[in-house]
Amino acid sequence: MAIKSEKYFIGIDVGGTKVYGGLVTPAGTIAAQHKEPTPLHANPKQILDVVEKVIQELLRTRNVSLKSILGLGVAVPGIVDNTGRVVITPNIDLSGTDLKKILEKKYKMRVVVGNDVNLGVLGEKWLGSGRKAQNIIGIFPGTGVGGGIIVKGDFLTGHQGAAAELGHMCVNPKGPQCTCGNVGCLEAVVGRWAIERDIREAVKKGSRTIITDLVGEKLQQIKSGMLAKALKAKDPLVTRIMTRSAETLASACVTLNHVFNTEVFIFGGGIIEACGDFILPRIERALKKDPFFKNLQAPKVLAAKLGDDAVILGAVAAVRQGADLKAISSAYYPKLKIMPSGKVSVNATLIDKPFYLRADGKLKEPEEFVPPHITHDLVDELTKKGPDTLFIAMGKKKRLVFSPKATRYLKKKKITACLLPVIAAVKAYNACEERKAVFFYL
Ligand SMILES: [Zn+2]
Repeated sequence: MAIKSEKYFIGIDVGGTKVYGGLVTPAGTIAAQHKEPTPLHANPKQILDVVEKVIQELLRTRNVSLKSILGLGVAVPGIVDNTGRVVITPNIDLSGTDLKKILEKKYKMRVVVGNDVNLGVLGEKWLGSGRKAQNIIGIFPGTGVGGGIIVKGDFLTGHQGAAAELGHMCVNPKGPQCTCGNVGCLEAVVGRWAIERDIREAVKKGSRTIITDLVGEKLQQIKSGMLAKALKAKDPLVTRIMTRSAETLASACVTLNHVFNTEVFIFGGGIIEACGDFILPRIERALKKDPFFKNLQAPKVLAAKLGDDAVILGAVAAVRQGADLKAISSAYYPKLKIMPSGKVSVNATLIDKPFYLRADGKLKEPEEFVPPHITHDLVDELTKKGPDTLFIAMGKKKRLVFSPKATRYLKKKKITACLLPVIAAVKAYNACEERKAVFFYL
């Protein structure tokens, strides 16, 4: 039984090839999604028309009106200033557009506009690999290299909103020309276009690689998947170029850690999705071997979890901050009530066997529950969809114990577990404003 949310947020990821949007519940579940192609050489008005179409489609799919939308988060591939005006988007024509103002006027709701990778990192913080971490550096090597930095739970935006352009840190003053106009940027060494350039140049000089078998002699577009294939086949040229790329990225991370002393590095984007197994251990090793910070705990190195959804969820996370969450969480999660019989009702339906409510509001029966044991497997099941708090409600004369493995699992996932008598558990669950789950054993 799904508990229908009455209120939603909308997150939109405006990209060079497509506009991707999601209708998202306040607890972070994507209730509907829709994609539209971005027309080639579209002007700002045409791009806004596509955004409007995506929004209409999302509303239509779930049969909801704009009145049910609590806020709109929009991500663009470029620099956005602190007022929500797009300063520059190199690959699409939105530079100079007062996007936040235009959308607020049109939709009459809270709007947040931000850089796509920055918002992607926020998405990973909310619901992905960075859950509950307060200090995060996100690096997303794809065609270019995007970044995002979270310090003490907040975005680093800088004086005018342009901070965290991690792809354009200089890693070699004598290095290759970058698309941004500078030389030796991280992106100009580890971005996909830079790797393509290096492979092409080496082939021109006579190096051999299986990539030419995969895409032809011209080496026009080398996708990340092909790099992964070449690494797997131990292709010497690709292995050499990718090793240098991973080592450059690793030393950039050591430097970033010296500046930010971060808790977690999150890596995403096409190259990491395809070649993460090759790149991430090298970064982890470099951070662990850093002689300067050897007496400190090395930051965690994690792969992003949310894929294409990270940006829309991050856009929602940004607009959700400061929204009236009390009203929202009561609209989303079912109200629990104790009946005079001692049984519990969920939205007026009486339940009389072991059940749980997941963090996405879904009502479920546990697959394997042998009282009094709360095993690792059971906890894994109860905490799907990532609650912040897990309530365990015990009926009278019932006894439950967590296994040591279950306790370790909760600690690792930073989920607070509360084992309570049923009345206290219902009260605590109804009052809790975070993502929450509850298990009843009556
Ligand atoms: Zn650059």
